[in-house]
Amino acid sequence: MPSAPIPHNDQERVAALKSYHILDTATEKDFDELAELASVICNTPIALISLVDKNRQWFKARKGITDSETDRALSFCAYAINKPDEILEVEDAREDARFVDNDLVTGDLNLVFYTGVPLVDENGYALGSLCVIDQERKKLNNMQRSALKVLANQVIDKLTLRRKVIELQEAQNRNLRLNKLLITKQQEAMQIIKNTPMAMALHTGIDMTIVFANDMMLNAWGKDEKVFQLPFNIALPELAALDFPSTMRRVYRTGIRYEQNEAHMTYSHFGILKQFYYNYAFTPLINEDGKVWGILNTAIDMTNVVRNRLAAESAEQQLRLAVQSADLGTWYINAQTREFIPSSKLKELFGYRHDDALSYEAALMQITEDYRAKVAAAVEATITQGEAYDIEYPIVGYRDKKLRWVRATGRLYKSGNDNETAHFSGTIADITERKEDEQRKNDFIGMVSHELKTPLTSISGYTQLQLVRASKNDDKQGQELAIKSKRQIDRMQALITGFLDVARITEGKIMLNKTDFDIAVIIKTVQDELLAIHNTHKLNFNFFEGVKIQADQDKVEQILVNLINNAVKYSPQGTVINIKCSTKGNDAFIAVTDHGIGVNDIDQTNIFKRFYRVDNTQTTLISGFGIGLYICKEIVERHGGKIGVDSKIGKGSTFWFTLPLLPVAEINNSHIHLKA
Ligand code: ADP
Repeated sequence: MPSAPIPHNDQERVAALKSYHILDTATEKDFDELAELASVICNTPIALISLVDKNRQWFKARKGITDSETDRALSFCAYAINKPDEILEVEDAREDARFVDNDLVTGDLNLVFYTGVPLVDENGYALGSLCVIDQERKKLNNMQRSALKVLANQVIDKLTLRRKVIELQEAQNRNLRLNKLLITKQQEAMQIIKNTPMAMALHTGIDMTIVFANDMMLNAWGKDEKVFQLPFNIALPELAALDFPSTMRRVYRTGIRYEQNEAHMTYSHFGILKQFYYNYAFTPLINEDGKVWGILNTAIDMTNVVRNRLAAESAEQQLRLAVQSADLGTWYINAQTREFIPSSKLKELFGYRHDDALSYEAALMQITEDYRAKVAAAVEATITQGEAYDIEYPIVGYRDKKLRWVRATGRLYKSGNDNETAHFSGTIADITERKEDEQRKNDFIGMVSHELKTPLTSISGYTQLQLVRASKNDDKQGQELAIKSKRQIDRMQALITGFLDVARITEGKIMLNKTDFDIAVIIKTVQDELLAIHNTHKLNFNFFEGVKIQADQDKVEQILVNLINNAVKYSPQGTVINIKCSTKGNDAFIAVTDHGIGVNDIDQTNIFKRFYRVDNTQTTLISGFGIGLYICKEIVERHGGKIGVDSKIGKGSTFWFTLPLLPVAEINNSHIHLKA
């Protein structure tokens, strides 16, 4: 059985057929009716709309058979499509060499008669055929043939129409998808604008209608979303008064962006007249035709930045004036590069001329040798550890060789982790006069105290004698007078000793006579001594034995007596004073706590300085010279210990000091030694 020849353009033909999206679709009434009509008109039991696929023929409509497709090799229609312009008529297949042994002819279907009209589309592709089939010999008349052609045209029309509907639907779906995408993109753009950390608004039309503004812009305007879709003038009359709309209109007209930095403006913001600084821009938005369709309004609030800068500038100017009028020298050292920039005044203090070059090393060399290392160490501690810098030292002028005392104060300036701009700077003042005054005062105090000491010792002796004599004579009044005199002489002697101590300290002549001892020994002595004197306060001693130190016993006793006497002096009668001794790490820790007037934070930093006394209504009636704590501090520090105060005004104070403990090895050794 010969198969129907395959048309030369079969590949394109099959592609054309596929473009109708008809193969393997469900039956459709329209096509079924056309097949029915063909069968009725041609008076055949079978009518088919057959579409010839690559390897099969598939029936879109079938009347009289149940199979939905057959192999292409069996297909009569495959013959029909070879001649698109002709009707294929087979009156009796049994007599046709092409079909005589075709399964459809010899098999159950028993096909005898076949007539098919090719279904040719607008591009000339024969997609299949509309055919009628009978099981007996037959011939169509002209009317039937023409009707079959008309029906075939109808099939093609329907196929074409159906394809158009599908294409239309696809286009519609595509449009829907695009619309959705557009909306999503628009929403994304809005979201970006909404969350941009910059005030943004979109204006369109010549009246600058507000299409959209993000929260930052609404806040800058002092408005809410009610201004959307309103013209600028109506929505924002406060800003319209500042002439923004006319600037925007110019941008609209010219298409040239307008920009302002740190523009200063004053307008009513949420009903309050306020000043602002803004960096803002009006950017023209241009469409495909090159026309401006809107304006993007962007703004950054610079108010705080500008205000801070202005404040810093004004503070800097004030500082410069203050430095100038106080006749202070200044310096700058870059913490990283160690570049040193001294002011003219600083050069002058170091004995240099204004136009002389002065390096940091050269400056150090002008400091007297005994202070040089201390100053260099303080500078290093400030630069590397950020420690406060406040130091007094003498300089010998480079050219004039004059001795000057200066006080230098400064600090490290550093913002965050920025090491490049970190710098150490400060001011330096000439304190020579003050130092000379102090020196004169010291010399005078030292001399007077020394001169007073001898006669006072004699007076003390005479008083002692008087007391003995009065006791012998049973002269009660004489005894009492002698005791009172003795008390006053003791006070005076204590004062003179204090002044002499100060003089010795300033001249660096204080001597320590160190021995190893248990601190409990001192506390017991002080306890016995002071309990007898101070019956106005309740003294509580709390200590244990075995806290051993190596120190000047008399001087440590002097510190403790001083702190307890102060506690008595500066707290109301009848209150409790606790004296406690314990250990803290490698130190002995001694604390005196009272419930007295207390010391404020500022005074706390000063009371250990020489001659410093707190000046307030509570202290004016209490006598003193402000040297006790100074002497204590010097003695403690000479021992390698620390002294300090924790205090609250009106609540009381704890004055404490530490002294290094004797190392355990030494204690053990001395123990063995004693036993031996
Ligand atoms: P003086 O007591 O002679 O003035 P000090 O050097 O002992 O000198 O003390 C300095 C200052 O510290 C005192 O003038 C006083 O104001 C304050 N001060 C010392 N001890 C106490 C204390 N326990 N409570 C309150 N203030 C004190």
